[in-house]
Amino acid sequence: MAIERTFSIIKPDATRRNLTGKVNAMLEAAGLRIVAQKRIHMSRAQAEAFYGVHKARPFFNDLCTFMTSGPVVVQVLEGENAVAKNREVMGATNPANAAEGTIRKVHAESIEANSVHGSDSPENAATEIAYFFAGTEIVG
Ligand code: ADP
Ligand code: MG
Repeated sequence: MAIERTFSIIKPDATRRNLTGKVNAMLEAAGLRIVAQKRIHMSRAQAEAFYGVHKARPFFNDLCTFMTSGPVVVQVLEGENAVAKNREVMGATNPANAAEGTIRKVHAESIEANSVHGSDSPENAATEIAYFFAGTEIVG
């Protein structure tokens, strides 16, 4: 398996509780390397565009409100099989269904405020990385 990159967000519920370091320690322990990182406050337009695939879902409006409710940390993770590995360490979308030891099981507050985002495919990872980072900001 080749070295791959994926896109990650530490969501507002986690930054509010000062969990950035704890979340990233779990990502690093899983073998993922943080090769780009910045703390931003997403605009409504950025959140709506980022989650555009979910526009028709009933939770879309609340999700965009949540994602703009405080700072987030956007980051690029690198490693073998990084997309799938990140999804594994994140755990299921609903923390009630997340496996023991996963980030969402340990830290998430709810199905919405679930502490982390992770790309669901290498194609989406490339799109999401390019949405937030210039190539020169990613240092492997
Ligand atoms: P994931 O983040 O696990 O890839 P989705 O892409 O399906 O999950 O959804 C994007 C985000 O939307 C979730 O991480 C969560 O914050 C929110 N979300 C998903 N489903 C619901 C729901 N049923 N109710 C409220 N928020 C939801
Ligand atoms: Mg998703």
